[in-house]
Amino acid sequence: MRPVRKLVVRPRLPPELEPLRALALNLRWSWDRRAQDVFAEVDPEGWGHGRRDPVRLLDHMSTGRATELAGDAGFLERLRSATDELERSLNDPAPLGRATGELGTVAYFSPEFGIAEAIPQYSGGLGVLAGDHLKAASDLGVPLVAVGLLYQHGYFRQELDVSGWQREHYPMLDPVCMALRPVEDVSVRLPLDRETLAARIWRADVGRVPLFLLDANVPENPPELRLVTDRLYGGGQEHRIRQEILLGMGGVLALREMDINPEVFHTNEGHAGFLILERIRRLVADEELSFPEAVEAVRGGTVFTTHTSVPAGIDRFPRELIERYFAGWAADCGVTVDDLMALGHEPGQPSGEAFNMAVMGLRLAGACNGVSRLHGRVTRRLFADVWPEVPEAEIPIDDITNGVHARSWVSGEVDALLSRSVGEAWPDAPEDAWRAAGEIPAEDLWSTRRDARERLVRLVRHRVREVAVAGGQSDWDLGWCDELLDPDVLTIGFARRFAGYKRATLLLSRPERLKALLYSEDRPVQIIFSGKAHPADDRGKAMIHDIVSFAREENVRRRLVFLEDYDILCARALVQGCDLWLNTPRRPHEACGTSGMKAALNGVLNCSILDGWWDELFNGDNGWAISSAEMEADDARRDAIEAEGLFRLLEERVVPAFYARDDDGIPQEWVGRMRACLRSLGPAVTASRMVREYTERLYEPAAARTVRLREDGYGRARELAAYKERVAAAWSRVRISVDDRGGASVVDVGEEQEVLAIVTAEGLSPEDLQTEILHGPLADDGALHPVGSVPMRRVEAGADGWAYEGRFRAERPGPYGFTVRAVPAHPQLGSSAELGLMAWA
Ligand SMILES: *Cc1c(COP(=O)(O)O)cnc(C)c1O
Repeated sequence: MRPVRKLVVRPRLPPELEPLRALALNLRWSWDRRAQDVFAEVDPEGWGHGRRDPVRLLDHMSTGRATELAGDAGFLERLRSATDELERSLNDPAPLGRATGELGTVAYFSPEFGIAEAIPQYSGGLGVLAGDHLKAASDLGVPLVAVGLLYQHGYFRQELDVSGWQREHYPMLDPVCMALRPVEDVSVRLPLDRETLAARIWRADVGRVPLFLLDANVPENPPELRLVTDRLYGGGQEHRIRQEILLGMGGVLALREMDINPEVFHTNEGHAGFLILERIRRLVADEELSFPEAVEAVRGGTVFTTHTSVPAGIDRFPRELIERYFAGWAADCGVTVDDLMALGHEPGQPSGEAFNMAVMGLRLAGACNGVSRLHGRVTRRLFADVWPEVPEAEIPIDDITNGVHARSWVSGEVDALLSRSVGEAWPDAPEDAWRAAGEIPAEDLWSTRRDARERLVRLVRHRVREVAVAGGQSDWDLGWCDELLDPDVLTIGFARRFAGYKRATLLLSRPERLKALLYSEDRPVQIIFSGKAHPADDRGKAMIHDIVSFAREENVRRRLVFLEDYDILCARALVQGCDLWLNTPRRPHEACGTSGMKAALNGVLNCSILDGWWDELFNGDNGWAISSAEMEADDARRDAIEAEGLFRLLEERVVPAFYARDDDGIPQEWVGRMRACLRSLGPAVTASRMVREYTERLYEPAAARTVRLREDGYGRARELAAYKERVAAAWSRVRISVDDRGGASVVDVGEEQEVLAIVTAEGLSPEDLQTEILHGPLADDGALHPVGSVPMRRVEAGADGWAYEGRFRAERPGPYGFTVRAVPAHPQLGSSAELGLMAWA
């Protein structure tokens, strides 16, 4: 029997407990320990081991419990203090508050947001990063609003069948039962193929940051359109493009409907990139700008972050879909579908066939970035052809290393230790203040380790038992669950998506050596694995299966556990409770990786390939680095070499350091590394550091550009578009000749060199370009590696062109060289590389 309608029946709370609702409805509780303690007091059993979900907790409170709490003066006092704290945090001036006035509003778009396990609208790293970004923006007072989709099922929940094979299931989520409120009187309607897609908007509050989620599951939509937001990353390409249209274009409409007019739009990965196209259409329609003028006006205020190092990880849509869904857009903008296809054309591929979302983002965003220093380099190489003339190092893709929201991830004990040593505001403390973390007493550090490890062991036992009971096993048969893991044994954690390049099974490649580590008489090791494979990734599922089978067949399951259904709850327990955080990607495929950062803030030591963030932040004693054999082209051989390196590291250095105890039972070397880890990584891996960088390096300049370009009826945007058109048409005629004074000469280090150049550029004027000297040492193959560029000065016009002169000093001995180039120059250009045009002598 199915009901015709569903009602959610809420218990009536006594008036004294009403503030609990406000506390539950702002997701700030997810990083406020005082609020968490209040909820824990309401339901000590449910809060401890389960998914933390205050809304559910209140919806299920018994009348008896409510009456009891309403009469408990101590509880009411703690409740008042938690709500006061929430109130204060929403109104206090914030560290970056000064920016608020100048910055206007930043709209942050992402296909997923991982804020708390109670709102499962994320699949993994990308979503959790987005959640952490919002939390830090709230702490810092950055004026951000966020836009995403509300999925009826979220991502899948993982279950393993008896053979250890991953099964996905998709529980129905009811927005009414989550910390969401409908935005009344506002909805979105947008053309989709020949139909109209309607969506309602839900609002979540993440501290002071509102998060708006678009939901297509509304009665106005025909059944198949209601499924547009059915699940995260499900279905084929058509489903995907519909979701991305709703997110990008629908999101822009939603903000407009709510009268929010951001200066800056940030697209977190390419999936939300259509927001750029919708804004262009608006300007063409409402402001009577031409298409190229609208592009310039929009570009100035657009920030695009790419998160992948693997070309296969990028969305590409076939022409047929673009034609079907964007013919109307093209007509509105006065361009052809070919013009649109050209924006997403990946250099080197046949033109007009595929639309690459990342390439479109790079072409149309004024500021682009990768997510670690190494990833910046990899991304500049990957997309170098989008700017054909531009040397790789100058490709206009910046990098801002990811960070994690500290108070969401550290344990209460570590929070207390850091508050005492670094200061109450440690999540946003400067590097200097973190020096104090190097002085935390060894006994304190070591006892928090033991507590957190023990808590993790209890949680794992509880979860494993739960799964076994749900699978039909009798409680009487489950005594073994209490023998899983040991709270005094060196605990290694490996938890992340099961994708091939992350190589979860590297340790299994030497079963005998692994068993020797696990069951060493005096220095044993235990390992906890956790993570989901993408539903379509059978190789990932096979890795999970291999781990589970190994644990079972080799009878090592007391020391090697697979924790099912990896989510924020598991991640938090693991990054707090393990001793060592293992990370074995094939370099340089991991763009950044953030779970190791969460571990580091808890004093958990990283043991990782030098990839992603670890490549820039490993300093020799804040953890361990596993060597890469990148030169080895054969993956199997490479894996074998790296596995050997990993085993030696564990056997010869990690395990001995953990078990070398002094008279008080403290491993001094290990604790020394924990201190180095906190001191050096603390200020570097937080989301506050990250959001500060986004704000200062990308948002503020983008907001200023938007304001500039918008003034006087978009006068500067029009000017810039006209400039680009003129320069692009004439650029091939730019010629540079340099007076080379005949052959190599010998000079002294530091001696000033004078360079003269003649430039001709038919159709351009001298103001359109800048001429500069690049100089630096020469490699063995004669290639110039510039260490500096010096602008040249125009001297009076020669008969055969414009004459320039400039000077530089060769500061290094050895073969040295210089060259001269011309680049486009205009006051509104974000970078001289923007047009991808350069002319060389
Ligand atoms: C932090 C986190 C991730 C990302 O971790 P990586 O190290 O980047 O793989 C994925 N899923 C969850 C639930 C997380 O908390």
